[in-house]
Amino acid sequence: MHQLQRYNDIPFSYRISSGLSWPTVCIFSGVHGNEPSGIDALHMLLHDFESWKHSLLQGTLLLVIGANQEAMELWQRFVEYDMNRLFGIDKPTCYEWKRVVELESLINESDFLIDLHSTSKPSVPFMFSELQHQSFVENLWVSHVIYGWWALGWVTVGDAESYANQQWCVSVTYESGDHRSPDGRQNASAFVLSVLQSTWLLWWETKGMEWENQKDFHVYLEGFYTAKTGDFSYAIAAENFLPIDKDTLIWRDGWEDIFLPAWTILVMPKSEDAIHQWKEAFFRWKKV
Ligand SMILES: [Zn+2]
Repeated sequence: MHQLQRYNDIPFSYRISSGLSWPTVCIFSGVHGNEPSGIDALHMLLHDFESWKHSLLQGTLLLVIGANQEAMELWQRFVEYDMNRLFGIDKPTCYEWKRVVELESLINESDFLIDLHSTSKPSVPFMFSELQHQSFVENLWVSHVIYGWWALGWVTVGDAESYANQQWCVSVTYESGDHRSPDGRQNASAFVLSVLQSTWLLWWETKGMEWENQKDFHVYLEGFYTAKTGDFSYAIAAENFLPIDKDTLIWRDGWEDIFLPAWTILVMPKSEDAIHQWKEAFFRWKKV
């Protein structure tokens, strides 16, 4: 018999407890206000607990259904500051700052953090994590995984996943595809279900869902390519996780034609109009 309560002091947050203490799984949605699929998926999940379609086996589930409410109302990524750069750092005084302080308190009492996002460009659903969580990640329903993103040090710190790692949480960031993809909510729902089953909060229930984790697209990022000129163009139709054969002409940077020295998978290529001289164009990877 689980108990469901709404937090009084942390808006749009819910606690579902089984009465057994371990583990505590915290799921964020809407850290960016223009990414509705995770929010929709958690609304459905909450409803399933309210109607007793789901019942917790053990542990505690913390749901944040819309982390950045003010940005959601404006259909914007954020209002004043990107919330996903404010975790665990000295913060400016603004709405997002107050909200992050509330959300940090939820992470501090959790064993797992799942942060649900979506992307601004079409992409297969994929996930970020770090190699120390590999055995957990390999049970989740996501075939495309990027390890080593934060270790690259390319992105400024302050994201929820890195903060949670510092608090000894097992943490992952899930991207359900394009912000407006009609499949986004379903992708996020299936992913969350696999999290709750892998953390022993729910029974494994694979009815109507077939899953085989191929691990062909589990990659470790090694670095990134920086455009040498302002005249960078792809010679291929660049898309996330595109496998490319050895010796393919992959891009032109000014006068230079670049052929791939070995078979590879392209990870998170930027749009050409967003690539300027000395800016990163895409990421280099190796297979895990
Ligand atoms: Zn996001």
